[in-house]
This record gives sequence, C-alpha cells and structure tokens, in this order.
Amino acid sequence: MNLASAPSSPPASAGLVGACFSPDYPTARAKFLLAAARARARVDVFCNDTAPGPDGGMLTTDVAVLGPEDSGHALLVVSATHGPEGFVGSAAQIALLDALAAGAQTPAVRIVLVHAINPWGFAHISRTTENNVDLNRNFIDWSAGPPSNPPYAELHPMLCPPQWTPQALASANASREAWLERNGHGAYVDVTSRGQYTHPDGMNYGGVGREWSNLTLEKIVARHLAGVKKIALIDWHTGLGERGEPFFLCFNERGGPGWQRACDWWGRANVESSGGFGGAQRPNYTGLLFHGVQRFAGQAAVTGAVIEFGTLPMDEMRMALQADRYLKFGGELPAAQRAAMKEQLLDAFAPFSPDWQRSALGHAIRIQQRAIDGLGAW
Ligand SMILES: [Zn+2]
Repeated sequence: MNLASAPSSPPASAGLVGACFSPDYPTARAKFLLAAARARARVDVFCNDTAPGPDGGMLTTDVAVLGPEDSGHALLVVSATHGPEGFVGSAAQIALLDALAAGAQTPAVRIVLVHAINPWGFAHISRTTENNVDLNRNFIDWSAGPPSNPPYAELHPMLCPPQWTPQALASANASREAWLERNGHGAYVDVTSRGQYTHPDGMNYGGVGREWSNLTLEKIVARHLAGVKKIALIDWHTGLGERGEPFFLCFNERGGPGWQRACDWWGRANVESSGGFGGAQRPNYTGLLFHGVQRFAGQAAVTGAVIEFGTLPMDEMRMALQADRYLKFGGELPAAQRAAMKEQLLDAFAPFSPDWQRSALGHAIRIQQRAIDGLGAW
C-alpha cells in the first residue's frame, strides 16, 4: 500500500501539536533536546561561531542519532533549511522522538535528525542564512564555479523595491507584471526560484562559497552516516502546495530507481504532482541540500525529497520574501512596522493556526513512518 491508495493522514491531536510545536527557536531547541533525551538518542551539538542569535546568544544545529550504529540504512531528517520553515520540521522531528521514546522496540535502521541546519534563519525568522544566502541553493560544486542566471539582473530591482511604501511596492510590482507579460509565468518562476549568484542583497541568492550550515552538514554526514549504504532523506519545508497539505519535490532522477522508490514510499500521485508552481514547470534548482547529501555521502544511494506544506498563495509568498529581504537591506522602519513584517513572514512560513498545524503534523508523522518502513524493505 502506498499513500496514494491509503486514506489521507489523520490530523494530529491538539495535544500532540501543543507538545511538538514551539513559538520560537530557543523553545524548539529545548523541546528537541528533551525529546532526544527521553528517546535515549545520542546527541551531537554544532555551535555556529559566525553569527549570534537575536539576543546575542549562541546558535546551534543539534543532531539526535538513534538505532543501531552498524546499520547500513539510515533515515536523515532535516529541519530549518529555510529558517522559519523549521517550526514544522522541528515538530515532526520531536513527534518522531516521542514515538520512539514511547515504543518498546528500538528502530531497525539508523535515524539521524538534524535540528535547525540553518539556526540563524530559524532564530531570526528569515528564510536565509546569516549572509542572506538561500541555503538550498548553496550546495553547488563550488570548484566548478556558480551557475549563471542572466535574466535575474533585470528582475532584481522589480523584486527588491528601494522603499517599503505603497507607492514603491506598486511601482515595482507594475514593472514585474510587465516582465511577466513579456516573458511568461514559466520563465518568471524559473528565474526567480532556481538560484542566482550575482546579487548578494537579492532573492534566492546562492552565496560566494560554502555557508557554515553547508560545512556543518558535511561534518554531520561524515560523523553519523559513515558506513551507511542507503539513505532516505526528508528535508522539511513550507510555502508550496495546497494549504496544510504535503507537496513533494523528489530530486532523484525522474523515472530512475530512486524516483520509483519515493513513489513506492509516498505514493506516485504525490511524488509526481506538479501543482505547486501555479501551472509552471518545476524550476531548474541549483545547489540543493539534496545534492550536498549525495556528494557528502559518497557511495551511498540517496532517495529523498524536499517535502513542503502549503501555506499562502504564491503572490503572498512573494510579498513575504520581499519583506524578509527588505528587513535586512532596506531603510529604517518604525518598530511596529518591522514587527508586522515579521508576523507576515510567520504567516507565510509557519502558520500558528491550530488546523494547519494539526494537518501538517499528521501528514509529517505518516510520511516519516513510511520512509522508515520503506528503508527496512530497501
Ligand atoms: Zn523552503
């Protein structure tokens, strides 16, 4: 049976949502470490020595490892690749730890939970890292140099208005809509999403080299996935797809064995759905975390996906991303306006609606379990 033929995942209970979701990064971290202790996980802590938290404190990526150390199969679950998208990923990881703590048997495969791979973005409520880098565009092969995305330069000023006033936003948006009219929705989605490496203050910026989070993930793979031959990867995200529902972006070769395996685990209709881009094709993403894991894990086979939970319509997501960027590079704003823009970001990436959280967590628990079951049979 796969998810396509199964009844839809039941929503998580309000109690489970309360136990697993957190209102901020420090609470999420504390809950994760407590849950890891209850599950008797081995814990590894990586301190980000390049950028502090909002209160000046240390930021960390925390790793919980369970299951047999000699297992050749491992589930790798990553949260907060895109900062505030980590609220749901953290909740999913905590739910798995709590289920393992409550169960009598230890898992048959190794389980590696990476909490807050981009802790700066999680703590500061920003999709990017401390350097305005979209971490999920940073895992290119830097020795080959960054890929080009020439049309982005034209769109940059239309996406990054110089002021945050109704007039400036309307003017930038009119230019953007004229670009869309000339070039089409498909080109727009690709150019604005695939990653760009030329505008450090722009959107979907891939950086100039490997970010702290990128280097840290390599250390995590080396320490905790050594000897593993088969890896199931789940990278939790939000912002694409129908509200509260999962949307799968499998990055195995389409039609190849990894792709088929993902279809077996999570349902072909789910894995092959293309509904998340408003009718456009999937962008030609570069520098994905998935590619990083493939490279770091050497000979191991990786089957996996970015799994999103839908939140708001695409236009509102774009406005949230513009707000995220303006808060870093724009002019002075009154404190109340900055706070309202942070709320806009949370609505877009981590809705605190109980219905959304119950739906997303219910799906996430089932998706993680399907990956563990699938690994056992791989
Ligand atoms: Zn994301």
